[in-house]
Amino acid sequence: MNPSPNVLRREESPHRIRVDSSRTHVAEAPRRTPVAADADVLVVGGGPSGVAAALSAARGGARTVLIERHGLLGGMWTAGLVNPIFDFRKKGWIVAELIDRLESSGAWRPHPRRATFNVEAMVRLLEAMMIEAGVSFQYHVPGVDAIVESGVVRGVIAESKAGREAFLAKVVIDCTGDGDVAARAGAPYELGRPQDGLMQPMTLMFEIEGVGDYEQQKTADTYDQLIEIIRRQQLDIELPFGRVNYAPAIILMPQPGRAAVQATHVYRLNGIDPRAVTRGMVEARKQVADLMRLLPHIPGLENVRLSRTAAALGVRETRRICGRYRLTLEDLKVGRRFDDAVTFCTFGVDIHEPAPGAGVPTGHGARIRPYEIPYRCLLPTGLGGILVAGRCISGSHEAHASYRVTGTCMGMGQAAGFAAAWAVSENATPSELPGPELRQRLAERGVGFLGENRP
Ligand SMILES: Cc1cc2nc3c(=O)[nH]c(=O)nc-3n(C[C@H](O)[C@H](O)[C@H](O)COP(=O)(O)OP(=O)(O)OC[C@H]3O[C@@H](n4cnc5c(N)ncnc54)[C@H](O)[C@@H]3O)c2cc1C
Repeated sequence: MNPSPNVLRREESPHRIRVDSSRTHVAEAPRRTPVAADADVLVVGGGPSGVAAALSAARGGARTVLIERHGLLGGMWTAGLVNPIFDFRKKGWIVAELIDRLESSGAWRPHPRRATFNVEAMVRLLEAMMIEAGVSFQYHVPGVDAIVESGVVRGVIAESKAGREAFLAKVVIDCTGDGDVAARAGAPYELGRPQDGLMQPMTLMFEIEGVGDYEQQKTADTYDQLIEIIRRQQLDIELPFGRVNYAPAIILMPQPGRAAVQATHVYRLNGIDPRAVTRGMVEARKQVADLMRLLPHIPGLENVRLSRTAAALGVRETRRICGRYRLTLEDLKVGRRFDDAVTFCTFGVDIHEPAPGAGVPTGHGARIRPYEIPYRCLLPTGLGGILVAGRCISGSHEAHASYRVTGTCMGMGQAAGFAAAWAVSENATPSELPGPELRQRLAERGVGFLGENRP
């Protein structure tokens, strides 16, 4: 029987790519790419900054589309199983609403320093908030290129199961964590610390259950216990961290008996190289297995079981897109305020040792004062039509290690979405907005800036 025309299909132009004779490259013929969406605001990446940006833009009246490469919203919060949320207080309307709604649904564990959330509840809440706000979001759609005309970003090219598609917008907000869109658009960026290019290590988070009433005191004490267990039992296990104040962290979650564990560390890898991330993922999963052999020997943790490992490796640091201002450790130390501030940060400088034996990280644990983040850090150098928000904004290796926390990233995203909707309503590009007025409008929506005492 002949197949019916509805069953027999063929993809368009299958023969447009030729392999160079050198076999080091292939040549692609020019192609016409269908436009999947033409929005006011396009947000790329649905992590803490991206979700806040999309909600803020949509509520500001902009027709907003968000594309996300994974199958869930939340970025490191959900795909990465990162808990707790640091530095979320007084960050403004969308941040406050998110925490309120987690709290009122029983998905929140309050704590002065380590407030945590139920990951599954977070995923569902973020989806509900996006639907309520009218954001059109699409999963499994990675943005792979930027569409730039005369220095102005007009949209993004995505490649998915649907093929290669264009997403056009009046303003694009890059919330990919890695600054993928801004980098593809030609923005200069920094990678790693200046002296050797090393970045912070990556961590595969995992969740355990059966924790009972156990509550961790000092990470260094837990480190000593683990070393003692290895010695006593003569195990062939090497801990992937030293006697530090950031690992191993056993972080209690809202669900009774459940904790997130921050302990694995993979070093000297570049988070924007998928081959390196693959090696890191394999190595980190082995570290989880090793740690699960040790944890039940800690008094109070006799009944722990592995619940799950994160779907995504936790990448702390990659591109820092150069913008019209570059935040530095000096700004943090003096608690700098800015006329065009969009949010603020109170979190300290948390640099996980970039490699064993690579020396004490410069700036880790430095005494800083609460500081503000200027709008100019969100405006990539030399480009129009684009904002960046989240961990990829313009700053030094040390400053990044402070403002990268999720409460602050949400604050940046919220401001970027607000500014984008405002720019669209004025038919302006984001860099034309008056910074002091932006600050004033954000303050009216509950962003608790740090007062007028500029140092
Ligand atoms: C192991 C680890 C532990 C941490 N612990 C804490 C903590 O305890 N508390 C805290 O507050 N912060 C913590 N942080 C920091 C924090 O998680 C991140 O800095 C923060 O999530 C950054 O937010 P973001 O929105 O910029 O990026 P992300 O959270 O990384 O979100 C980026 C989103 O964009 C998507 N994306 C990326 N590229 C593309 C693309 N090309 N196209 C489409 N989508 C794309 C990703 O899938 C993801 O959903 C930790 C980070 C790590 C790695």
